[in-house]
Amino acid sequence: MCLYSISGCGGSDSVSTTDSDTTSDTETSTETNTDSSGYFDASLFDTSALSQTQVSCTLENNSTTTCYQLTFAANTVGDTEDSGTIGPYCPPSINTSRDEAGVGIYDGTTTPGFQSLVDAAVAMDADGYDIVDEDGNIRFSDLTQGSEEAGFSYCLSANFDSSLEVTFLIPVTPELRSEPYYFGTIDSIGMGVNGIPLTANPPSVTVAEAGVGGTGSGNIPALDLCGGHPDPSGYYHWHFIPQSINTVYAADDYNYTELYDISCNNIYIDYDNPSAFAGLAKDGFPLYGALDSVDGLDTEPATVAELDECNGHSHATNEYPDGVYHYHALQDQAPNNPPCLMGSFVDRSVSVQ
Ligand SMILES: [Zn+2]
Ligand SMILES: [Zn+2]
Repeated sequence: MCLYSISGCGGSDSVSTTDSDTTSDTETSTETNTDSSGYFDASLFDTSALSQTQVSCTLENNSTTTCYQLTFAANTVGDTEDSGTIGPYCPPSINTSRDEAGVGIYDGTTTPGFQSLVDAAVAMDADGYDIVDEDGNIRFSDLTQGSEEAGFSYCLSANFDSSLEVTFLIPVTPELRSEPYYFGTIDSIGMGVNGIPLTANPPSVTVAEAGVGGTGSGNIPALDLCGGHPDPSGYYHWHFIPQSINTVYAADDYNYTELYDISCNNIYIDYDNPSAFAGLAKDGFPLYGALDSVDGLDTEPATVAELDECNGHSHATNEYPDGVYHYHALQDQAPNNPPCLMGSFVDRSVSVQ
């Protein structure tokens, strides 16, 4: 299969080896990127990077290459409830309306899977986690107070720290792995729009450490309706491709749009355009929503070009008219991230400082 349609598949142009920048030995150039072989285009990210350079880097396949080093301010999609851009997170009660509650993935016995945290809390309580009190209140911890009591379970959220900066290292010229790389829980996937980290599946219930909790003690992290939340250290990140989370809410297996009228509507996300550009994976290939756009119409990716096991394929897109290998979000499964990557990447591709 030809992945590198942008540089031609006949091998006449650089794919990964001879003419990369390794001979000029990248002195952390402060030039903005003009390398047409890479797929980072600042104009696609809706917010400007604080710094944008190219540096020498080593990939997990031990290859030395050139990486984009991109630093963004953390929490650029909004870090206050008042701006209406993030949340809701933990519902206060099992009677809270689901459109005012966050979502989570609860993999217990009673109604497992992706669901409103109202339902997840009820299911957890039924499974022996003491997360709902006698009055129907859902126990809550913001992770910063350390107020959890032994024996109880909690819905978790965290506070924002917008003094943080997030730095990504992403190869300019993608290099194929011999085998696809499948994401583990909370692996880094790459860089979303606005410089927001994209992260693989969130944990389900994390059982409190020995000695703190007892039977019935386990905590579930809260995601907002766009599938994101602040890390305990304070930076916001997504566990979903947010451009397409509304196609998941509307999917037959969930039907949450109709049942509960819940949706992602963060003003910084192209949430009503499930074929939108969604970011750059950590292997350097672009990410898109669940659909393709052809002549202004959304269509199934598989009707444009066959999808591989990582939900990727090559064709021309609005952003890359010469053609590009790219991944698509899943249309009707939660989380909706592509399952794997075809290219190699830097082991610690994202860092927060
Ligand atoms: Zn997370
Ligand atoms: Zn496509």
